Amino acid sequence: MYIPYGRQDINNADIEAVVRVLQSDFLTQGEIVPAFENAVAEICQTPYAVAVNSATSALHLACMALDLGPKDLVWTTPISFVASANCARYCGAEVDFVDIDPHTYNLSVDQLKKKLKLASLNKRLPKIVIPVHFSGQACEMKQIHSLGEHYGFNIIEDASHAIGGRYLNSPIGTGEYSDITVFSFHPVKIITTGEGGMALTRHRELFQRMKRLRTHGIVREPDEMPGESDGPWFYQQIELGYNYRLTDLQAALGLSQMTRLETFIKQRHFLASRYDQLLATLPVITPWQHPDSYSGLHLYVIRLKLAEIQRTRLEIFNYLRSAEIGVNIHYIPIYRQAYYAQMGFQASDFPESEKYYAETLTLPLYPTLTEADQDRVVQVLKEAFML
Ligand SMILES: *Cc1c(COP(=O)(O)O)cnc(C)c1O
Repeated sequence: MYIPYGRQDINNADIEAVVRVLQSDFLTQGEIVPAFENAVAEICQTPYAVAVNSATSALHLACMALDLGPKDLVWTTPISFVASANCARYCGAEVDFVDIDPHTYNLSVDQLKKKLKLASLNKRLPKIVIPVHFSGQACEMKQIHSLGEHYGFNIIEDASHAIGGRYLNSPIGTGEYSDITVFSFHPVKIITTGEGGMALTRHRELFQRMKRLRTHGIVREPDEMPGESDGPWFYQQIELGYNYRLTDLQAALGLSQMTRLETFIKQRHFLASRYDQLLATLPVITPWQHPDSYSGLHLYVIRLKLAEIQRTRLEIFNYLRSAEIGVNIHYIPIYRQAYYAQMGFQASDFPESEKYYAETLTLPLYPTLTEADQDRVVQVLKEAFML
């Protein structure tokens, strides 16, 4: 049986919650989306949340709410999904990358500092920095935040991997060190709504802006309108927005999944430490955990000590895939994507990302992965190494 690298866990309560919405009056724009937003805002200990149809949409709205435009610059990490950079391009802004930390694989604060110093001399500072909590492990937000204060950039946390995780004992999403935090509810992520995402913030104006951009830029409250209301039917489109709404069907699934968030993450931690033990004597580097972070553990990423292995990474990857083990690579550095490469990025500017990309391998990890499945993954990996 095929073992994927990640998958959803759907139970009867989830199914019943979705069916109840199907039998109700509202499939979308009912009461369930706000209930889901409140549930996520509550566990994140933050006042405002906007549910949308994907994390990609949430990132786009976050950039728009922070007034990102064509003359601006956004920095993010190359070791992420393309959406972390694409959101800037949707606003016409330019993108650049900050190399990664060799231990956490997150955007390196040392590299960020160096790049900011240089950018400040050249008068080309970023308007927004988008740190990504890779695999669920929090970036060093306190340091990034104080650099933001010093150099005057905004911060969007791409926490697509990280709902339910903690940083310095506060929930990721609390927004103490950023303007907006974004979660993804794609089925491989920690909780799912099928497709879906959410943007969280402590700032009322950012919240209101993202909320109206989610629905075409339309406002309905008379006090938000530039002119007089014509009557109770009246609404005004005051800027150009989108239809990025989440449905109540999806929100019902999300709300039901939220009740198991802690269980999911505990199970991920249990399985990850089991991997740590099973892999301890193999020629691999297991995930290093920063003491300030309690990871959501979306991904279990190992690095192959290729100098100690008789096979190439490609051979190992193919061996596992042909044994029906859905290993994967997270990620191809974004600057290596054809769309970005044509902008003139040099791989040699990102030595840690290059080294990481050559050695990385994602092993299957999800709450319903059994210990027997896990043993099989490790056994086949050993065979692949020809040990
Ligand atoms: C999955 C992911 C996204 C995009 O999420 P969608 O909900 O699929 O749009 C963005 N950033 C990162 C880091 C992701 O892993």
